[in-house]
Amino acid sequence: MRVKQIGNGGAFDFESVNSSFLIEEGSEYILFDCGYSVYAELRKLNDYHDEIDIKMLRNVYISHMDDDHVGSLKTLIFYMYFMHNIKLNILSFNEVADELNLYLKDMKKYIDLHKLSNGIIYNGLKLDSIKTSHHVECYGLIVSDNKNSIIISGDTKALVNFPEIVSRYENKIIFHDFSEWDNEDQQVHACRTDVDRYYSEELQENIIWYHNNKDFNKKWRTI
Ligand SMILES: [Zn+2]
Repeated sequence: MRVKQIGNGGAFDFESVNSSFLIEEGSEYILFDCGYSVYAELRKLNDYHDEIDIKMLRNVYISHMDDDHVGSLKTLIFYMYFMHNIKLNILSFNEVADELNLYLKDMKKYIDLHKLSNGIIYNGLKLDSIKTSHHVECYGLIVSDNKNSIIISGDTKALVNFPEIVSRYENKIIFHDFSEWDNEDQQVHACRTDVDRYYSEELQENIIWYHNNKDFNKKWRTI
């Protein structure tokens, strides 16, 4: 598998692209989240920079319904359907699947909606959710092949059970939400105080922090 971070921005950032990832397995991509600036970035990466092949996009996973995670999904669906004759599979867990079902009610003929259950095998990959702590229902995603896993936390405060969850997976790349604004009471993202409370130094060193509007590694990472 390979994974490439597409954006690292949060809800209000107008310069960096909303946090999102492309996971490649075989000849298909899974896009993790499609915020309001993600469609434009995917087109630039495909049309100008030759860094992705957008025709490989078959699946979009949506972690939750905030606009910086779902805001350009409808445009992407139309683009793939009308320009490439591709019906996207839209993947999500639990309540998010129910909300997407309503949100995309007029678009059913352009997509296939999949309500996932934990541990489901999808196109040969095992998909697991991480129930997060955010201001709305949100699920992180763990994608595993036979021996490797890509773990993306989704929007969340630091989770007391996150160390135990990731310890179940052997070879892994871990991406975790993080905000520089260290205010636990008002924060809906992980911040220094709760991360230091729940995550060991060793775990913190093995995490790639995202959703912080900072510069990030744009390369494909292989696992
Ligand atoms: Zn959010």
